Amino acid sequence: MKTYTGGCHCGKFKYEAEIDLKSAIECNCSRCHKLGLVLSFIPPEQFKLIEGSETELTDYQFNTMKIHHLFCPDCGVESFARGANKEGNPLYCINVRCLDDVLLSDLTITPVNGKDY
Ligand SMILES: [Zn+2]
Repeated sequence: MKTYTGGCHCGKFKYEAEIDLKSAIECNCSRCHKLGLVLSFIPPEQFKLIEGSETELTDYQFNTMKIHHLFCPDCGVESFARGANKEGNPLYCINVRCLDDVLLSDLTITPVNGKDY
């Protein structure tokens, strides 16, 4: 577990997140596939928005409408999303590609079959 900083492309939104990147996944659902998303899921207490506010982000939902895909209205980058696990506990979905100083080639990324659920 380590504290990372991350955010969107233009810098309007920045956050700190405590993550164990061993949990990074690559999802093949229709949206993640188009965006090339690599994600890590953390509870809200491990996430802190330090620049911008969540209400300023554009919220996009599809399919089961369980995840709020939040992206910057200026640069269009979804640096994180908000959702819930199967038990209904809130989760933040961190876009690992938006973390500072993380090389994807250093990670072992687990494929997840999101397109079938
Ligand atoms: Zn931005």
